[in-house]
Amino acid sequence: MRAVDLIRKKKEGQKHTREEIYFLVDGYVKGEVSDYQMSAWLMAVCFMGLDAQETAYLTQSFVDSGEILDFSTISNFVVDKHSTGGVGDKVSIVLIPLLAACGLTCAKLSGRGLGHTGGTVDKLESIPGFVCEISNEHFMKQISDIGLAISSQSPNLTPADGKIYSLRDVTATVDNISLICASVVSKKIASGANFIVLDVKYGSGAFIKTPDEAQELAELMIDIGKHLGRNICAVITSMKQPLGTHIGNSLEIMECIEFLKGNYEKDLYEITCEIAMPALLEAKICLNENEAKKLIDEKISNGEALNKFKEMLKAQGGNVDIVNNYSLLPQASQKVEVRAEKDGYVCGLDALKIANAAKLLGSGRDKKEDNIDFGVGIVLGAKISQKVAKGETLAALYVNDTKRLEEAKQYALDAFVISESPCEQEKLVYKTIRPL
Ligand code: URA
Repeated sequence: MRAVDLIRKKKEGQKHTREEIYFLVDGYVKGEVSDYQMSAWLMAVCFMGLDAQETAYLTQSFVDSGEILDFSTISNFVVDKHSTGGVGDKVSIVLIPLLAACGLTCAKLSGRGLGHTGGTVDKLESIPGFVCEISNEHFMKQISDIGLAISSQSPNLTPADGKIYSLRDVTATVDNISLICASVVSKKIASGANFIVLDVKYGSGAFIKTPDEAQELAELMIDIGKHLGRNICAVITSMKQPLGTHIGNSLEIMECIEFLKGNYEKDLYEITCEIAMPALLEAKICLNENEAKKLIDEKISNGEALNKFKEMLKAQGGNVDIVNNYSLLPQASQKVEVRAEKDGYVCGLDALKIANAAKLLGSGRDKKEDNIDFGVGIVLGAKISQKVAKGETLAALYVNDTKRLEEAKQYALDAFVISESPCEQEKLVYKTIRPL
């Protein structure tokens, strides 16, 4: 078999066999298939697609490229959560401590930024000392000791996804349902969790643009998860405007800490509850949604969720003092405000344009080996349905390198659609698909 023939086969829209998919994936992990060949194949997949059977083979080949963790000696109910990617999507960082405070065992395997979206690993690594690259032994022990850990893919867990993920990030090959499905589901299988909640996002700031496509992706992931023996629940949510107010790595950490202290934006709270609920019900910690909601509120207001976050910081080497002193986090040297040019109501706030603005400031990568600037980003001054007056701050840009500042300001300004008449905010949660 030769990679070039398989690239051509997919380019011509033909279906791959199991052996062909394993040849490409295993060969890439071993360095026998090159970056440029894998990139070409990924692009062919974006144009010609993979069917459900090929997607299942791809997912299984990612899982088989590494180990699968086994938590059966620690707990018989281990939760993991994953988002298909968004802008300002910091849900995992507040959800995992919250669920752990509610008594659940949480084993979260996360990724770095992908395309225009931010990654949980990058956000957490903006905390001085915090290490996401922990060994499987550390991951298991920490979960056994304190009930939670958020780790990046160690070289032993789905290395195929790890390698292909970084390549997709810089070759515009992220937004394909099969590639997203294999990437997300394989990680969740390998992380050893038996209950998985997926946040499947649609809208300008997501890789999937419509709720129907998001539902198709959610159903595919649930189906493939079931075949691989995992219980998956999917929450389909809108990503038309950024989630919360802060976009950028250390800025998002600050918003997460404020959330855990009880100072939260309504949308971040709503999605966090919607994702927490199925896990709390499935684990039978709560009997109904009202009880679950009460427990969530209690764990935030009594400080237990924040304490779990601090325990996780300590266990993974992070500086716990950041919780009360944000100046210990990476900071930008300048704050530049983008102001409303007229009075009106915010009727649109394009998440992709905000993400592009943040990336121009240095919050994401253009090439695999790029470093990111943890301190830069954007804090939104207004969101959809809010009234604004001419001259009011729409967004504050936190800047270090001013090289692309003017472009970033323009993106931020263009993201806002200001209308004369008020407009309704669209619903945030489109649908939750629970396991049967
Ligand atoms: N998150 C992942 O882990 N993989 C994707 O492909 C998209 C989002």
